[in-house]
Parts: sequence; C-alpha cells; structure tokens
Amino acid sequence: MNIAGLSQHEAERLLREYGPNEMPEPKPDPVWLRFLRQFRSPLIYMLFFAVAFDVGDWFYDRFEGWPVEGAMIAAVLLLNAVLGTLQEVRSEEALAQLRTLTAPFAWAVRGGRLVRVPGRTLVPGDLVRIEAGERLGADGQLVGGGGVMTDESVLTGESVPVDKPVGAELHSGTLVLRGKGAFRVSRTGQRSSMGRIATSLETIVRERTPLERRLDVLGRQIAHCIGWLAVLLIALGLLTEGLGRLDEVVMFAVALAVAAIPEGMPAVVTLTLALGVQRMAKRNALVRRLAAVESLGSVTVIATDKTGTLTENRMFVREVVASDEPAALTAMVLANDADLAARVGDPLEIALLEHAQARGVDLAAKHRAHPRRGERPFDSAWQYMRVTVSEEGRLASYVKGAPEAVLARCELAPDARETWSSRAAQAASGGLRVLALARAEGSADEGWAWLGLATLWDPPRAEVPSALREAERAGVRVLMVTGDHPATARAIAEAIGMHGIEVVTGAELDGLSEEALRARVREANVFARVGPDHKLRLVEVLQADGEIVAMTGDGVNDSPALKRADVGVAMGQRGSDVAREVADLVLLDDDFATIVGAVEEGRGIYENIQSFIRFTFSTNVALIALVVTGAAVAYATGLRDTTGLLLVPLTALQLLWINFLGDGPPALALALDRSPGLMDRPPRPPQSGLLDVPSKWFIFVTGAFKGALGIALLIVLPVVGYAAAATRTMLFLYESVGKLVSVYPSRLAAHRRRINFVLHGAVAAGVLLQVLTVVVPGLRTFLELSALGAPSILVLALCVFTTWAVAAVTARVIHSPPRRECTAQTRH
Ligand code: ADP
Ligand code: MG
Repeated sequence: MNIAGLSQHEAERLLREYGPNEMPEPKPDPVWLRFLRQFRSPLIYMLFFAVAFDVGDWFYDRFEGWPVEGAMIAAVLLLNAVLGTLQEVRSEEALAQLRTLTAPFAWAVRGGRLVRVPGRTLVPGDLVRIEAGERLGADGQLVGGGGVMTDESVLTGESVPVDKPVGAELHSGTLVLRGKGAFRVSRTGQRSSMGRIATSLETIVRERTPLERRLDVLGRQIAHCIGWLAVLLIALGLLTEGLGRLDEVVMFAVALAVAAIPEGMPAVVTLTLALGVQRMAKRNALVRRLAAVESLGSVTVIATDKTGTLTENRMFVREVVASDEPAALTAMVLANDADLAARVGDPLEIALLEHAQARGVDLAAKHRAHPRRGERPFDSAWQYMRVTVSEEGRLASYVKGAPEAVLARCELAPDARETWSSRAAQAASGGLRVLALARAEGSADEGWAWLGLATLWDPPRAEVPSALREAERAGVRVLMVTGDHPATARAIAEAIGMHGIEVVTGAELDGLSEEALRARVREANVFARVGPDHKLRLVEVLQADGEIVAMTGDGVNDSPALKRADVGVAMGQRGSDVAREVADLVLLDDDFATIVGAVEEGRGIYENIQSFIRFTFSTNVALIALVVTGAAVAYATGLRDTTGLLLVPLTALQLLWINFLGDGPPALALALDRSPGLMDRPPRPPQSGLLDVPSKWFIFVTGAFKGALGIALLIVLPVVGYAAAATRTMLFLYESVGKLVSVYPSRLAAHRRRINFVLHGAVAAGVLLQVLTVVVPGLRTFLELSALGAPSILVLALCVFTTWAVAAVTARVIHSPPRRECTAQTRH
C-alpha cells in the first residue's frame, strides 16, 4: 500500500470540518413518557378502577372518613411506576455502556503509517485498508488491491456478490466478501450511503428473551386467575354482606389481587438480566442478544476454534525446510497480505515476514520487483492462497497453504510426495502449524512446483487448561474445531490438557451418514481440517442430539454456523465484522476462558431469577390460601366485627402493606446473589422450564405451610383469648416477617454462595419496618393493629422460625440437582 494517505494534522482538520463519521443516535424516549408507559397493563387499569371507586364512594358518603385504601393503592401504583422507570433507565444505561466497548475500528494510513483508528474519526480523503469480512465504514473508491467483492444487499436488497475492480465505488454499510485492498474515503457520516450503525454490533439487540416471554405468559395467566377470583369474591361478598357493603367488598377483592399478582416480576427480571450482562462485560464477554444469556446458562457443549482462542495467535517460524531457500522465502513474502511495519494482518503472515526479514530479505525491494497482478485469497474452504506477480516480465504465481491442499496441486514424484507429507505430519505432531510453499509459471491453480515447508509455533494460552478443567467439572463438553492439521490439533489438545482425545477430520465426516455422524460426534472431541460447512453440520448434529451448543467462529463463512448455534461466539480482536454481527456473544479478549466465564454468569442469572420466582410465589400462594379459607371460616362461624362486617383474616390495607413493602428490596437484592459453586454442577436440563419440578415443590410446600400456619393461628388465637385485632396483628406480622425470612431458603442453595450483604440489609430493614408498625402508635392505628405482649412476640418468633426451618428443610430435600445421564465424566 504505497499510495499516500493523510497526515495526522490534515486528518484532524478534516474531522473538524466534516464532523465525526457517525449517524445521529436515536434519541431515547423522555423519562415522563416512560413513566406513563409503566401504567400500561390490565392489572394497573384494575387498580385505577379501584382507586376511582374508593374516591367515588368517599364523595358519595360526603367526605366521611378517608379513602385510605384508595390512597394506598394509588401510592403503590406511583411507587411501582417510579421503580419501573428507574429500572428501565438503569438497564438501558447498562446496555448502552457496553456499546462503547465495541465501536468499530479501521486501518487508515495516517502520516505515512498504517494505524488503527476508531471508525468515527474517518474523514474524506483517508486511505483505508479493507479486507474480507469487514463492513465498510464510509463511502469511497477502491484504489488498490484485488479480488474485492462486496455484498451490497443492505442497500439494494439483492444479495449477490458484486465484483469491485480498482476504481469502483464502495458504499458504507456494505460488506467485503472477498479480497483485500485500499480505498479512498469520499463521504462519511450522514453523507455516506448509510451509516454503519444500523447494522453493526453497536446496536445491541433488545428483544424480549424467551425467558421474559415465558414470564409474561405466566404473569398473564396468574392475573387472569386472580381476576376471576376477585370477581368471584365480589359476587360472594355481595351475596353475604349485601349491597350496602359494596365498598368494603370491592376493596378487599382488589387488595387480594394486588397481594397475589407479582407486579415486580418484569422489573426484577430485567434488572437481573441487565446486571448479569454488565458483569459478563467486566469479564470480557459482551452479550449482543439478551436471549443468549439464558442459553448460555444451559450450554452443554462448547465447540471452539483452536487458533487464537485456545492458542495465543502469536506465531513465529520454527523452521523452513526447502531445497531452494531463496525461492521459499520469496513465496513467504509475496503470498502474503500482512504489513510488517504496522504489524497489521494475520499473525501467521506477520510471522512469515519476520522470518524472511531475519534471513536478510529486503521486503520492500521484493515487493517492488514483483508487482502483484492477481490473486486467489486464502479461504478456509480451499486452504491456500495464491498470488500472481510479474517476475522479470513474465507472470508467476506464489502459493502458501495447508500441505495437503498444496501437494494436491503440485507436480511431484510419488515418493517425494510421500516424504513431504510425512515430514509435514511429523512437524504437526509436535504441535506446529505447517505451511506448504509452491511456485508456478502463469496464474494456474494446478501444476505447481513444490518449494518446501515452513513450520510455525503458536503457544497455547496459559489460562486455557484451568478453564477446560472448570468446564469439565461443570459437565460441559469442549470440542476443538479447527482448520488445522489433525496432528497439530492433537498435539495442542494434549498441551492444554484435554482428556480422551479423539481426532476426526472433516473429510472423514463427509463420508458419514447422519446416524454414523451422530455416533462419531458423541465420541470425538477434536475436529481437524474442517471448513465452515462442517461447522454448520456439527452444530446441527449436536443439537439433534439434544445438546445446547456454543460455537465460535471468525470467518465470513462461519456465519451460518454461528447463527445456528444456541450461542454463536465471535471474537472482538480478530475475525470478521460479519461474524461479530451474527454472534450472540463477542469475546473482547478472544479467550476460551472467557466463554467458560460467560457460561458461569449465565447460570447465575438464571438461578437468581428462579430464586426470585420461588420467593414471590411461595408467599402469594400462602396469602391467597389464608385469605380465602379465613373468609370462608369467618362466614361459616359468623365472625363479624362491631359494625357487623365479616371478619376477614387481613384487611385490604394490611394485604397491600405486606405485598408492597415486603417484596421489593429483598427481591431486587436477589439479583446480586453470587454463587461460586455454580460450576460444580452439570448443566440444567434444556427442557426443564423456569418453574422446574423442585421449584414447584418448593412453592407448593412452603406456600401451603405458611397458609396453613396462618389459618391455625386464626383459629387457635381467638380460642385462647386473643381479640380480633390482636389476632390480625399476629397474622399480619407472621405473614410479613415469614415472607422476609423465606427469601433465604428460596434460593434452594445446594452449593456455596457468597455473602449477599445487600440481601441481609434488605431483610433486616424489612423486619425492622414490620416491628415499627406495632411500635409506632400512628402506624399502628393506621394499619388497624394492636400492641402485642412478650408472650405473643415469642409465639410469633417461634412461628417465623418454624417457617424458615420448614422451608430450609424443603429446599435441602427437593434440591438434589438434576443429573443428566451422560455428564462429562462418563463421556471420556
Ligand atoms: P484455524 O484457524 O482453525 O487454525 P484455518 O481454517 O484458518 O484454521 O486454516 C486452515 C489451514 O489453512 C491451516 O492449517 C494452514 O495450513 C492454512 N492457512 C491458514 N492461514 C493461511 C493463510 N493466511 N494463507 C495460506 N494458508 C493458510
Ligand atoms: Mg484461522
């Protein structure tokens, strides 16, 4: 690339003149609008109706007394909306922050040197290096390079590759499918054909995740049931109490509905997801699709690249074996797209240039003497690269590629072929990458003259062995999927400590039937010499076998496999924009260990949401059981207060109070739970729902217990001499504090868990608040409670403790983690 670019100074001036190369960001909706949107739900309408009803009744009674319930519900509504808005803003901010981590970059010539600059600083006149897999960041003209083909479907809607000879116009937002080159920027930002933003990974896809959708459905179903229950209660209430009590009856039914419906659920789930995504980003795993968080938690197989993910992708040449070394070095330099001075390009190619330079080759002179005339770029589908140059007035080609691919196109005596091929295999078995070099007259893709071999060393990443062990403990199978030689793959697999290594090649896979393939994939864990099609097939076969697959990919052709995988993983450092665009997860550090970390976080998020659901529903079940049974008992035994109103176990106001002050803080604090033991268990069975069997048991047992103990209190206390108000006070305190402490067992912890101070704080604050309701005289009268003596408090403490103990024992008993029949251990 010897065409001049801009000077640094010039580029800065132009940037001021033309402004940054970016599209205006869509403005987020104003806060007041979001606030109003919180009220859009049938449940809320019902509550509005209740408020209006209460206030209307107050008018009707000529302002006698105060519409306390109405005011309380209004307060719940407001607070709920405020919290909802805060949650939404906070979650969005967290996601928006992540965008800055992945802003696109471009290689531009500035002050005569190729430098990596943020895409937003490109200006008209810039000279930019492009290569296959990139999405163009600006409009411009191709001024150098060859074999460039682009996909302009974002602009034209037609997804046919378009040939771009030197001089052709290139458009921003379009994709380079093939080739490499340089282009001169003409228009940037809003003036370009299209901003990169619309399609790039800057936009984090925010669709409702399957989890959220399932929760929506569950929430709707519950609301539906409660709605009917409320209608039924109103009808029965009117029948027994008469129309004169309409006010009390309606308010009671509504209060029960409020108590039973998990209003906080969407906010808690969103918060849990957003916090989790933020935590993953801190560990270098950028989630692009929130839905992937859920799949991550249930991943059973990680199919990973070798080069750059398991290894460092920092290569150097070990040895060049050739009879004609100068010719071999020439091939290494010419069949090469890297730029050594700027250290741009494939690390493998950089290593070849480094070696040639160290052997005394003048790279610039070599390039000047052999101007490039044509090329066939490297592709993992054919595994070689050919560059055609003019050499002393004639055309000649230089080739480098995988030994098998190159040997197949060389003219070589059978025994020489044999020797070279076993030489290559021998070097590969030492873990080296092996490249073959060849030369040819003209520009043919066959009949080449063999030059020799270059071997390269790419060290395994230091953190990989422990990450592998962790995956193994967590019951997640790890498969190495590489384009490299089987022997290299095996040696690296051994070096990083994979167990029971069983190598299969792509060619072998091709010959297998669906059945045989499935069986083979169950045993093998190293897949060598595979191309993009194999990757797709591999994902499909694994999924057909019931696995949840995370698959990495970096090339342009990897996108089908990435899309198909449950979690498509792309690399932030190397690899193509295309791969990143279709991926669910981007590894900012390209490191295998990061995938394992993300799986752990995914599991944690899912578990926290489950804890929350168990926590909420267990009390909802208890309250409904208590109130409905209690009302029935009161009716049957003719329990009425001084005004003749049926004595229900808890008043509307008390129900609202329990629900509204009990849930919130501990529920949100659950999102902060961290359990280091997450990776000591096998993955959750993919088919198990959000409310899995243990959860259902937990909700049922603990809910029933809390309900039953409440009813027992309701029946026994009056018998031993408690007045109605005192009985209610006991019930009120029991249900609210019992709910607070059951947050601990609802985590179903069968493994270690880090101390969650926020949760302890939330529970302590909640208990304190409940104590205040009976201690502070004003609150006490407001909630229609009465003061309690020491014996009562002792009884309460005993009840709360028993409740906690029952829940804790339930949690232990039902939570034998669901074992999959084939865990990693049995697979070796
Ligand atoms: P992976 O990234 O999984 O190691 P690739 O598909 O990139 O595998 O490469 C497959 C084989 O193609 C390598 O083993 C090597 O022999 C050859 N190869 C890789 N990169 C290049 C390149 N830039 N030019 C020519 N041949 C290459
Ligand atoms: Mg590669």
